[in-house]
Amino acid sequence: MNLELSEEQRAVQRLARDFVAREITPHVVEWDRTENVDKSIVKKLGALGFLGLTIPEEYGGSGGDHLAYCLVTEELGRGDSSVRGIVSVSLGLVAKTIAAWGSEEQKQQWLPRLTSGEAIGCFGLTEPGTGSDAGNLITKAVRDGDDYVINGTKMFITNGTWADVVLLFARSTDAPGHQGVSAFLIPTDTPGLTRRTIHGKLGLRGQATAELVLEDVRVPASAMLAPEGKGFSVAMSALAKGRMSVAAGCVGIAQAALDAALSYAGEREQFGKTIAHHQLVQELITDIAVDVDAARLLTWRVADLVDRGEPFVTAASKAKLFASEAAVRAANNALQVYGGYGYIDEYPAGKLLRDARVMTLYEGTSQIQKLVIGRALTGVSAF
Ligand SMILES: Cc1cc2nc3c(=O)[nH]c(=O)nc-3n(C[C@H](O)[C@H](O)[C@H](O)COP(=O)(O)OP(=O)(O)OC[C@H]3O[C@@H](n4cnc5c(N)ncnc54)[C@H](O)[C@@H]3O)c2cc1C
Repeated sequence: MNLELSEEQRAVQRLARDFVAREITPHVVEWDRTENVDKSIVKKLGALGFLGLTIPEEYGGSGGDHLAYCLVTEELGRGDSSVRGIVSVSLGLVAKTIAAWGSEEQKQQWLPRLTSGEAIGCFGLTEPGTGSDAGNLITKAVRDGDDYVINGTKMFITNGTWADVVLLFARSTDAPGHQGVSAFLIPTDTPGLTRRTIHGKLGLRGQATAELVLEDVRVPASAMLAPEGKGFSVAMSALAKGRMSVAAGCVGIAQAALDAALSYAGEREQFGKTIAHHQLVQELITDIAVDVDAARLLTWRVADLVDRGEPFVTAASKAKLFASEAAVRAANNALQVYGGYGYIDEYPAGKLLRDARVMTLYEGTSQIQKLVIGRALTGVSAF
């Protein structure tokens, strides 16, 4: 792998960095306080091609490779994880999954709208009773003539109240466990689908996280994505690449923590000199910097494997596990550099820590990543 970025990759990185400085950074504190990212950001992300990265141009995508996708995701995560999550889910989990598994008709129906930002996607896997054990979900899809009728509840759905389409996983056959799960593309204005915003999150406060309730939601059989019973494979393949995107977002958080810690340490004076002179403060900053580099390299390796068509699932779990834990450590170390000021909203470290905390939980907790890696190493499944 060549660690030197190409001119094209540098250009997209610069574009994302400038976009963050102009359209995100000035609003971050307000969006966090009001629990509401300005939804107009979605069309702006689409206009720059950030919602179409890696999607073929014939479907409205902006092409590009997965390293470019990670570079943009890192910059967005450096700016605001709530905005980064919009892209990771609508593009990373929904559009890319439609591109990989969808029929020609499904691609034509959804991809141009999702890549332009005219529509937003959400990913409905988790339920109140099944998180890590997603293969045992109980939302039910019953065949009725040319339709399916779906009943169930989905929990913690990112973009949930904003989305125009939900990639939803439901049990459609009596086959045991994950074998009975199928995937459906459901417009969110379908009668019987209601959404409730989940308030009071520790972090990602600006993000539209929702509970989705489906009561006799009727969709045509053509709404099924991929063959019947393949839904769990669809979900797992989406999440494997999704973990790369979360990891890249975590690199962004850790980089933001480093930027903030360096800036503050160079200004704040104690004992007659800036705190950057104190070696124990340097230790905190050094620890953050090593976490940034290690997380970034693990993440770029996944992008490289994906782009070369090599197996990447275990590498993605390693990157997600390390980068998410590193983001929490980095934000916590940055907060320590700020001292008491780190504990109040006026300074960035507290929000970075609150936003980082969910990264070890969603798209597979750290424990689940360890089981995935352990299974690959030993050949023995703990599931
Ligand atoms: C802000 C936010 C956004 C989210 N967005 C989405 C989304 O867009 N779409 C979606 O479908 N889901 C989403 N989720 C859900 C998320 O993926 C789940 O919360 C996560 O998978 C964990 O499931 P759980 O919360 O039910 O925890 P549980 O699965 O109940 O786990 C609880 C604890 O037990 C541990 N544990 C469970 N099983 C094992 C095991 N076999 N071995 C060892 N330890 C184990 C876990 O690691 C964890 O520490 C989101 C969650 C949050 C908080």
